[in-house]
Amino acid sequence: MPRQSIDHMIVIMVMTMATMLAACHPQPVIVKRSQLLMGTVVSVTSVAPDRERAHRAAAAGLEEIRRLEKLWSTWIPTSEVSQVNAAAGRQAIPVSPETLDLIDRSIHIAALTEGAFNIAVGPAVRAWNISDQGRLPSREELAKIRPLVDLAALRIDRQARRVFLTRAGMALDIGGIGKGYAADLAADVMQRHGALAGVVALSGDIKTFGRMPDGHRFVFGIQHPRREHGVILGRLELENEAVSTAGDYQRYFMQNGIRYHHILDPRTLEPARLARSVTIVAREGIMADGLDTGIFVLGPEKGMALIEALPEVEGVIVDTQGRVWVSSGLRTRLQLDPQVPVVEATK
Ligand code: AMP
Ligand code: MG
Repeated sequence: MPRQSIDHMIVIMVMTMATMLAACHPQPVIVKRSQLLMGTVVSVTSVAPDRERAHRAAAAGLEEIRRLEKLWSTWIPTSEVSQVNAAAGRQAIPVSPETLDLIDRSIHIAALTEGAFNIAVGPAVRAWNISDQGRLPSREELAKIRPLVDLAALRIDRQARRVFLTRAGMALDIGGIGKGYAADLAADVMQRHGALAGVVALSGDIKTFGRMPDGHRFVFGIQHPRREHGVILGRLELENEAVSTAGDYQRYFMQNGIRYHHILDPRTLEPARLARSVTIVAREGIMADGLDTGIFVLGPEKGMALIEALPEVEGVIVDTQGRVWVSSGLRTRLQLDPQVPVVEATK
């Protein structure tokens, strides 16, 4: 056989083998789906070996968030959190393991943040009504509420899985941590349904697992707290990590030139005044979300000290002057907009 024909045959054989291999190992498929859940836009990105599995995993992720919304939403009167709140001062309410876990982890984050994170803040959240019209509660009104915002008056029976708010008028509000935990649980469900990699994003509360099919990490922008939506402060790649941002620009109303926003200082029951935004990167969404709210209240100095003290926790804080504080583990990872004024590392 002439040399050219042999070469030709080899080329055809190699091509056929490549096609067969590709058929055995097809490129992973990416599916993205969004839905309105937990009062926000929830987007899931699912990477799986085939289209069917990618769709199934994405649908299962969204379904998990819908299930958790039914347990935790204070807008749903039958939710476990609503039942616990309605029974305040009267009786203990049985809850699911997820709800108990959420409350337990919230208490842990309250301890880490010296009480700056406090899920008993419910009556104050109601008084300010910021997620709706927003109103200025009087000093007297806030003074009456203050004894109710007290985690010491929350009783948990872990054996019986029961939760009791011992004072009438108390109310849990898991708005500062629930989305992060929902992202974790939805990501677990997606993996159980065959997703190799993915992202669960409940607006600013994001959990990632794995990498994109091309080997790249998932990339996120941190919203600039004083520019229009979509203008970013910096860019960050994540792998098997969660990121969460708390900001005074997310929900607020203006009155007499003052911004009244949705993150309340449990000591004063007024909007916290030491930061514009806090972004936390952690392994778990529950940690990133709980800490972003608590650290927002603590402010940049105490907040950054806490970030540095915690293993596998990193963060970016924009203070009230617009200066950016970046934790030591993010300094080489975060691509900041060069115009942004950065506070020099103190550590
Ligand atoms: P995030 O966007 O994660 O900071 O959550 C903000 C939400 O957490 C608010 O809308 C309230 O529902 C709730 N919240 C406000 N202040 C606090 C606080 N000090 N501790 C815990 N939750 C809070
Ligand atoms: Mg939070």
